[in-house]
Amino acid sequence: MYWEKEQETLEVDLLRKQQLEYIKKIVKRVGKSEYYGKIFKNLGGFSINNWEDFKSLPFTEKQDLRDSFPYGLLVTDLTDVIRLHSSSGTTGNPTVIFHTKNDIADWTNFCARSMYMTGVRKNDVFQNMMGYGLFTGGLGFHYGAEKVGMLTIPSGPGNSKRQLWFMKKFQTSVIHILPNYALRLCSFFEPLNIDPYTDLNLRIAFLGAEPHSEVIRKKIEEIYGLRAFNSYGLSEIYGPGIAFECEEQNGMHIWEDYLYPEIIDPVTGELVPEGEEGELVLTTLRREAMPIIRYRTRDLTRFIPGPCPCGRTHRRIDRIKGRTDDMLIINGVNLFPIQVERAVMECPAVGENYLIEVKTINHMDKLFVHVEVNREAFSGTLSELKKIEKDLTNRLRSEVEVTPEVILVEGGSLPVSEGKAKRVIDNREKG
Ligand code: ADP
Ligand code: ZN
Repeated sequence: MYWEKEQETLEVDLLRKQQLEYIKKIVKRVGKSEYYGKIFKNLGGFSINNWEDFKSLPFTEKQDLRDSFPYGLLVTDLTDVIRLHSSSGTTGNPTVIFHTKNDIADWTNFCARSMYMTGVRKNDVFQNMMGYGLFTGGLGFHYGAEKVGMLTIPSGPGNSKRQLWFMKKFQTSVIHILPNYALRLCSFFEPLNIDPYTDLNLRIAFLGAEPHSEVIRKKIEEIYGLRAFNSYGLSEIYGPGIAFECEEQNGMHIWEDYLYPEIIDPVTGELVPEGEEGELVLTTLRREAMPIIRYRTRDLTRFIPGPCPCGRTHRRIDRIKGRTDDMLIINGVNLFPIQVERAVMECPAVGENYLIEVKTINHMDKLFVHVEVNREAFSGTLSELKKIEKDLTNRLRSEVEVTPEVILVEGGSLPVSEGKAKRVIDNREKG
């Protein structure tokens, strides 16, 4: 059941002690980089004796990484670096991250640990449908899966027919896939005459890299006949696998022997009380090439209070609500795309995709939600469609406290993206 029982179930007190020891060491080392060297110099030198000292350290932000391009955060010699990764640049210029051999070995290890935790074993066949290359989704899991000993098919994203061909021919049992792609791939079942329950052998999926609601998880589980586990990561802090759901499927254990997580109020920067929502901040405890201290991820989540029945002591974070910069403000009301997803996807007539659009009408913000409905619903009478529209409007109004205009469209007609889903089009007049 455990990949490394002792580490995964280490008593919380011991885990904290271990973390502080790592922090003392890493803080000594980061001063060698140009970026932290300057910060520590301005602080008049710095060493860590206790948690209070640590918590007085400034945060590191994405912009700091960009401003330090390319080597400002590098601590080791470039000759010790074996890999470069880069963020996909969803929100601005890319950032580059360097890894030594040990950094890659660490990342590989906790990816293996994460996968093993969900029940995959060496006799599984693993199809990795995440992008390989600069994006960390592909390679991180690839190495982890090989470490577990699975037959690993590096199929990458796209080419749906070939994906399903591999799945069928090699009886793939475990997949790693973007949630929005999982919802698209299934539209090929019918034309290819595939019954996922009898022709395929899928039992586990890892879903990650973009926000998705519990309703979407359930939908994917049902369509493919498997159990889906949430996987979180970001390229600045290794990549996927840093936080992962166990068999309880209730929050993601964040690997605290590699990372120190904190949750702060994104406005004040203060730590929030345990269990409250805020922005996740991460410190790498062991990274050699490019350690990062108190990195503001911009991702909103909370610690799930209390121990997990699985016995692991590493804290759990809740499903990511979105990034601080994903928040839309509609006539003064705050809204996250995932709230819209939760509301529309619960309606049985809804298909696989939706799109949020905001426009300015009569100097006011107006929210439009385009929703794909399934074939049966779409071929219904006008009054039946009106009923669905009304139902969706009510669901949305109670979830997001904004009255939207719902536009029903045929399944498969909304634009799809090759990578992470683009859920929002903001067409508001500026100024
Ligand atoms: P980019 O910032 O260019 O998208 P990454 O490819 O490193 O860079 O993506 C990391 C981001 O993806 C995270 O900061 C988070 O916002 C999002 N993400 C990753 N995994 C999940 C997940 N399981 N649920 C929600 N969001 C996720
Ligand atoms: Zn658990």
